[in-house]
Amino acid sequence: MKRYRVLEIDSLDVLRKALTRLDGEFRALPRSTSRGISSKKIEKILLEAAKLLGDNYPYFHPLYAGQMLKPPHPVARMAYALAMWINPNNHALDGGRASSAMEKEAVAEIAGMFGWKAHLGHLTGGGTIANLEALWVAGQIQPQGTIVASEQAHYTHSRISNVLRLKFESVACDSKGRIDLDALEKRLAQGGVTTVVATMGTTATGSVDPLHEILTLKNRYGFRVHADAAYGGYFTLVDNLDSETRKAFNALSNVASLVIDPHKHGLQPYGCGCVIFQDPAVGKFYKHDSPYTYFSSGDLHLGEISLECSRPGAAAVGLWATQRLLPLSRNGEFSKLLRSSRRASLTLHEKLKKDGRFLPAFRPELDIVVWAVRASRVSESSQLAHALFAEAGKNQLHLALAELPTNFFQLHEAGMVVDQNTITCLRSVLMKPEHREWLDRIYEILSRSADRIVKRVGV
Ligand SMILES: *Cc1c(COP(=O)(O)O)cnc(C)c1O
Repeated sequence: MKRYRVLEIDSLDVLRKALTRLDGEFRALPRSTSRGISSKKIEKILLEAAKLLGDNYPYFHPLYAGQMLKPPHPVARMAYALAMWINPNNHALDGGRASSAMEKEAVAEIAGMFGWKAHLGHLTGGGTIANLEALWVAGQIQPQGTIVASEQAHYTHSRISNVLRLKFESVACDSKGRIDLDALEKRLAQGGVTTVVATMGTTATGSVDPLHEILTLKNRYGFRVHADAAYGGYFTLVDNLDSETRKAFNALSNVASLVIDPHKHGLQPYGCGCVIFQDPAVGKFYKHDSPYTYFSSGDLHLGEISLECSRPGAAAVGLWATQRLLPLSRNGEFSKLLRSSRRASLTLHEKLKKDGRFLPAFRPELDIVVWAVRASRVSESSQLAHALFAEAGKNQLHLALAELPTNFFQLHEAGMVVDQNTITCLRSVLMKPEHREWLDRIYEILSRSADRIVKRVGV
């Protein structure tokens, strides 16, 4: 009898076929003897590693509905593994001819997703280093200026600015986790702001800064706009965003630079971020002695437009293969997967709203749901959130906790005493396409877990 499996393993057969084809591509070479392979020893070590890796939350399973963790698509995993037998380095063409071409193709498709015609960009180790490059270029253009981002922007923006020795300030958020436009304008009027970072999907709640409004302010005050779409970028493809969110995403065609993480919603293994600039001329900052024309030619050398040197060509192969299978088109299969995540988040939000035990925050803009446990005071609610997180985990439902400003919740209406500035609440990032069909099961476990802790605590 075939053993019940939770992990997808069948794709290994396809990988073997592809490896055989790759082997054939090098058949002109004389045979080399493989050294250092003692399969008994390796087997022992690998089995030990497999046992140790069991000490993880089941990120690949729909009942993992906590942090931003989405399993790579099998095609990405296999393409990445296939490339490992060559281990190309996309720093230079000498290190990875084929995978560099694949990277350029994949990045051009990402730029095309935002309606960009010209672009200069490449893959990075992740969103952090991608944002670092974007802010580095902003600082090269205007070294004296101040960079501003919202209080809910990714925490690394302030740290990156510090590394780059650029001035950084954060601006308050509204009650939906988006940059507060009045606060932003007030700060702009004081002068000195040269770059505004718009977050297209905050890491905590998936809130989307009103980029279209920020661009209107740009006309009045003049500054560079960088969009941190590390998390949310791909949502530009879906047709079920709220109208304000849609407007913000449509404005992405008018930013100077943009960061998106294929290893977040793009079905890639970790080690795959992406930074793109709309003006290819920024290439001059990477290599001083290169004329502008060099960078606007179709023949970019990835190693010369990147702050990182060695980079995995395998990441490009994984991304290229995934975009082959699931093109970045509106209403294509890939966009439907994201659409389903968004639907799941709206359904969960509605269920929570109707449930007297919970108090959800604002309507989700993407696919992240946050909710508090109702209690007489915020401190008590925070303790209950911790208890519920642990109890749900015992029942195989893995959620996340978040520490959020109290104004994200209608606490007064809920009759809760606000005895602290932040509230610990539950957070669920419904990134997997399967989450939608698993929602009833997820809610059933959540509900049962909530009953248990309420009984235990006696509220
Ligand atoms: C995840 C994230 C980052 C950081 O990206 P890494 O890939 O984790 O380095 C930056 N900004 C936002 C909005 C993110 O969600």
